Amino acid sequence: MSLIHRAVAIDGPAASGKSTVAKRLADSLGMVMVNSGAMYRAVTWQLLQDGVSSRDEGAIVDAASKMEITCGMEEGRSTIGINGRFFNEELRSSKVNDFVSSVAAVPEVRERLVKLQREYLETSDIVMEGRDIGSVVFPDTPYKLYIDASEEVRRARRAADGEADAVAARDAQDSQRKTAPLRISDGAIVIDSSHLEIEEVVEAAKEALKSLGWEDLS
Ligand code: C5P
Repeated sequence: MSLIHRAVAIDGPAASGKSTVAKRLADSLGMVMVNSGAMYRAVTWQLLQDGVSSRDEGAIVDAASKMEITCGMEEGRSTIGINGRFFNEELRSSKVNDFVSSVAAVPEVRERLVKLQREYLETSDIVMEGRDIGSVVFPDTPYKLYIDASEEVRRARRAADGEADAVAARDAQDSQRKTAPLRISDGAIVIDSSHLEIEEVVEAAKEALKSLGWEDLS
């Protein structure tokens, strides 16, 4: 891991508000926001396109190994491309939501994506959000946050976005898998966003970073 650049690791369950906080923090600190979930979603989108079954782990490994995955950055945000195609909103379709946790449970897929995630730190200061960022991707960073919210609030947030997403089922799969399960990593500060406005969550995140040793933080 690079010693020159800083990584803020933000983990948490689906719809906990971590993406919004990660974006705001990255903008405020002049860092790049890396959305690791988008990488799992892009691989999933391509597997759906290829007609691979979510129950066929061998086929997932085989098809994923043939994908050309391109990770980049644009205007302070990570970008993800597969076989030359770059993605946006299509990664949030209900089909992707339903399939992504099965894909993310496959160790070979994780290994490849974790390697790409770590490469971001070679060139940039980053705020990366996901499920295993503090525990697996950057276990040595002192700046670890875990953004939580009640299941009721998280379900309501997804519904308000008009997104069909079985958040509880996804969380159960993400927490129970053998490889890199969702958990509060050692040293992470937990922020419950259930009853906070986004600005309050960002402030709480900054306070947490200060208490984790970040000195030059306004
Ligand atoms: O963050 P987002 O909800 O977009 O993530 C989609 C899915 O990708 C998660 O439900 C999880 O299965 C997987 N994921 C993961 N590890 C990460 C980020 C996402 O397993 N670091």
